[in-house]
Amino acid sequence: MLDSWLLYVVIVAAIGVGWLLGRRERPKSNDSAYSPNYYQGLNYLLNEEPDRAVAPFLEDLEVNPDTLETHLALGGLLRRRGELDKAVVVHENILANKQLKPDAVLRVQLELARDYLLAGLLDRAEDLLLNLNKQLSQENPSRQMSDLRRQGRKLIIEIYEREKEWHRAIEVGEMLAVGNDTEKYERSISHYYCEFAEECLKNNQLDMARQAISDAIGHDATNARVSLILGQLEINEQRYPEAIRALKRIKSQDPVYVPESLEPLVAAYAGEDKQPETKNEFRDYLLECLDVTPSISIVLTLAVHLREERGDEAVAKFIANYLKKNPTIRGLSQLIDLHIDNTHGVSKQNLLILRSFAEALVANKPAYRCKSCGFEGKKMRWHCPSCKDWGTIEPIFGLEGE
Ligand SMILES: [Zn+2]
Repeated sequence: MLDSWLLYVVIVAAIGVGWLLGRRERPKSNDSAYSPNYYQGLNYLLNEEPDRAVAPFLEDLEVNPDTLETHLALGGLLRRRGELDKAVVVHENILANKQLKPDAVLRVQLELARDYLLAGLLDRAEDLLLNLNKQLSQENPSRQMSDLRRQGRKLIIEIYEREKEWHRAIEVGEMLAVGNDTEKYERSISHYYCEFAEECLKNNQLDMARQAISDAIGHDATNARVSLILGQLEINEQRYPEAIRALKRIKSQDPVYVPESLEPLVAAYAGEDKQPETKNEFRDYLLECLDVTPSISIVLTLAVHLREERGDEAVAKFIANYLKKNPTIRGLSQLIDLHIDNTHGVSKQNLLILRSFAEALVANKPAYRCKSCGFEGKKMRWHCPSCKDWGTIEPIFGLEGE
């Protein structure tokens, strides 16, 4: 739909420019004076073959202030269609023209950087964008110039994210975290610190990890990921009460992520002395979480505790009661499991068949979804690979999910 609209714009612009050139440069009596290349390029555009339109247009449509938009539209259209090498040719061809005004040059450089970035030529894109940023860092840039600088910085940050250059990304993020974008980039910066903290944790640089965690929380106090990393760090240092405290914070930060904290929380409680009051505290916490986030993972964690305390029958009753209010297939599978252990003969066979059906129903279903763009996946990610937002992917709740 967007491509068709752009195609329309390109065609109209091309016709308009051709008409203007015709009027300006050719005698009025000569009505059919467009060159064959021009018609050929136009035909390719009309046949939705913009890649083939490149050569005729470059040969015949001179780059000047009147035709700049046509060239840019053609370059943009090619990029959107994935013809990145041809988009580069179109944009480089514009830049080869020495008569362009400085602001037009900067605009085209930004477009070329977009081509390089999409083509994975990160070094080239970075060089171009850093140079652009330098040229645009004037004392009092015009509104248009500061908009270009902002667009350039958004592309630079994308490069640093892909290169995992977290400190550089933080630097640029701080420049972008102003006005309407404050919340978005503060959240991104918090995740950059989280990424760095996770790297430190992996390399056993615990002090650096602790500092990064503290910086991350400073930029977004509601970032549940920070508590998950801190919980893991405390577990690594066998400081179980601190780990439990950190992980429990998620309930008030962003309760949809409580299911993500259950595994480390179980590990932290296992590390603690197995006093009955500690067990009760964990159970009470899970029940409180269930009030805020109806999640089958919480129910199943509770079920493990209840099974130890009160046996299979009590657990089956508890799960069945929960499923009446919040039916989920994972819960059903667990319920079947509890009955299989206490059943024999044909009934057991039937339950096994039922269980394999339930498993097949959720086997290929995504477990997580991005609330910004709708991207779905089977594993938890903090950075959406589709819309590139941070902290927007959440567990899917409902029949086939949590
Ligand atoms: Zn997304």
